[in-house]
Amino acid sequence: MLTIDNINVYYGAIHALKGISVDVQEGEIVTLIGANGAGKSTTLRTISGLLRPRTGQLLFEGQNIAQAAAQKIVAMGISQVPEGRKIFANMSVLENLELGAYIRSDKQEIKKDMENVFGRFPRLAERRGQLAGTLSGGEQQMLAMGRALMSRPRLLLLDEPSMGLAPLLVKEIFSIIREINQTGTTILLVEQNANMALSIAHKAYVLETGRITLYGTAKELSESEAVRKAYLGG
Ligand code: ATP
Repeated sequence: MLTIDNINVYYGAIHALKGISVDVQEGEIVTLIGANGAGKSTTLRTISGLLRPRTGQLLFEGQNIAQAAAQKIVAMGISQVPEGRKIFANMSVLENLELGAYIRSDKQEIKKDMENVFGRFPRLAERRGQLAGTLSGGEQQMLAMGRALMSRPRLLLLDEPSMGLAPLLVKEIFSIIREINQTGTTILLVEQNANMALSIAHKAYVLETGRITLYGTAKELSESEAVRKAYLGG
C-alpha cells in the first residue's frame, strides 16, 4: 500500500532521514519505534506532504506522492494524527470533527461518519458541544483520532498517541487503534512506548538517528536482545 524507498529528508543543513525505506501492506499495523530525535515524526510528516524528501520515492497505491500537496494526499486516503494532538482548543468537539471532513462534500455520508466516530468514542458523543481545549488529555487524543477518521482514510498515521497519558488510558487508546485496524484501516504508528506498540503491531522498524537499524515482525523485535535492552527496559 505504502512504499517508502530510500528517502533523504533535511531541515536546512540537518540531515534528518538518511535513506529510510519502509513498507506498509494493506491491513497491517506497522510501528516505527525509536528514541527522541530519531526521525519518527519527520517520517510521518514527509508521508503527509508537510516535508519533501530531497531524494527517494514515496509510493501510495502505486502513485508517487513525494511531491504531492498535503491536501491531495488527504484526498487520496492518508490522514495523520499529529504529535501533541493539535486540536482546535477554542472550537467545540463537533466543530473539530467537521473540520476533519473539510475535503469532502458528501453531507449525508459525513453525518454517518460523525455518528460512527461517536459510536467509537462515546466520551466524545457526550461532550459534542464542549470546547475541545477543556477536554482531558485522553479525550483530546480521541478527538484527534476522530477528526482524522472524518476524512475516511485508508491509511492512518498516528504520532505518539500514548504521549502524556496514564497507563489505563494508554491501554484504552491502543485497544481503539486495534479496532480501527480491524474495521479495515491500515495503520502506521509512531511510538516511544515500544512495549505497547509491539503488542498491537504486525511489523516493526527501529529508527536510530535517521536510519532504520532493525526491522521484522513485531514478535521478532519484541524477542530481540538489542530491542529489549534499548527499548523495552531490559
Ligand atoms: P520525538 O520522539 O522526540 O518526537 P522523533 O523521532 O519524532 O523524536 P523528529 O522530530 O523526527 O524525531 O526529529 C528528527 C531530527 O530532526 C532531530 O534531530 C530534530 O532535532 C530534527 N528536527 C525536527 N524538526 C526540525 C525542524 N523544524 N528544524 C530543524 N530540525 C528539526
